[in-house]
Amino acid sequence: MSHLMNTYQRIPVAFARGQGVWLWDEAGRKYLDALAGIAVNTLGHGHPRLTQAIAEQSLRLIHASNLYRIAEQEKLADRLAGISGMDNVFFCNSGCEANEAAIKLARLYGHGKAVESPAIVVMDKAFHGRTLATLSATGNRKVQAGFEPLVSGFVRVPFNDIEAVRQVATHDRSVVAVLVEPIQGEGGINLSAMQYLRDLREICDRQGWLLMVDEVQCGLGRTGKWFVYQHAGIRPDVMLLAKGLASGVPIGACLARGAAAQVFQPGTHGSTFGGNPLACAAALATLAAIEEEGLMSNAERIGGLLIAGLREGLAGTPGVREVRGHGLMIGVELDRSCGDLVGQALEAGLLINVTMDKVIRLLPPLVMSEQEARQALSILVPLVRGFLAQAPAIAARA
Ligand code: PLP
Repeated sequence: MSHLMNTYQRIPVAFARGQGVWLWDEAGRKYLDALAGIAVNTLGHGHPRLTQAIAEQSLRLIHASNLYRIAEQEKLADRLAGISGMDNVFFCNSGCEANEAAIKLARLYGHGKAVESPAIVVMDKAFHGRTLATLSATGNRKVQAGFEPLVSGFVRVPFNDIEAVRQVATHDRSVVAVLVEPIQGEGGINLSAMQYLRDLREICDRQGWLLMVDEVQCGLGRTGKWFVYQHAGIRPDVMLLAKGLASGVPIGACLARGAAAQVFQPGTHGSTFGGNPLACAAALATLAAIEEEGLMSNAERIGGLLIAGLREGLAGTPGVREVRGHGLMIGVELDRSCGDLVGQALEAGLLINVTMDKVIRLLPPLVMSEQEARQALSILVPLVRGFLAQAPAIAARA
């Protein structure tokens, strides 16, 4: 009997080492990693710049406490403010904690404006985490079921539907913020229209609401710019990061700007581990590598190549609903359940994921080369075609 709690239906493979976009299992079999630990291993595996930074920092100092100044944390906050246009940062350890911080920040902001029961507009199909507040903000009943009573104070609207937000603005005086993923990841790689983001910004400005963007999955260079909101030419009031920020070392961040940056005061929020020297050194090395090794433009180029290759390779294939994505955040929506493809791809030496039951998801490391992208396509395209040809019966169930 395993002593692990039964929270994951794990695929029976364990990886022993990695290099670049490649992983090797315990038996020495090699796999092309097109998932990067679900958008975590920004620099791939074993990146020398990252491993050196972690090794050197671990020799100097791993942890002190947020009771004291932490030089690496201050440096990382400066760097993040510089690339994002935000004013300040709270560091934590994961995406749900970053979202939790934003939810608390929005409530405190609301109380500061004498709103008795502050509410946050959230989206259908959103995913913000698995703590009680963040699963309540999440737009997926499967994540919430069994954990009722949910945390109140969320008003849900359809994603990409600006009219629905306008309706809330006219009717609901309790709203103080909007929380949105500029590209929904767990929800099936759903891209927000850039105009939608600009319109949200305008509504938030008019209403005095905070615009809070969850870039935990889509941010940090994956789409060709540091952050997705930068494609829309706007700035949010609050932004959340985690996953790829330190390329695999746990870290989360809640960044704020303007009035939102003044909300937390000593004692209102905290984290024991958040922003410790080790995690911050790893994040600084990750950001330096993204910039100096041209990984944002690589992500845009290789992502474009993958999307075009998938569109071309799957054109006219019955059962393919849509190939969509931005940079290295890619979804292929089928008309039927396709969880079985994960195991088939693994057998063929490729790591992928399926989300929302019918969407094949690719989130490769930003270091993927053209040749590696073509290798991924050469495995995935025939696999999807073969799967669709052999699984017509499943279509009837869908
Ligand atoms: N927000 C988004 C957009 C995510 O994709 C995720 C995780 O998938 C989270 C928040 C939660 O992050 P974590 O699993 O680090 O708590």
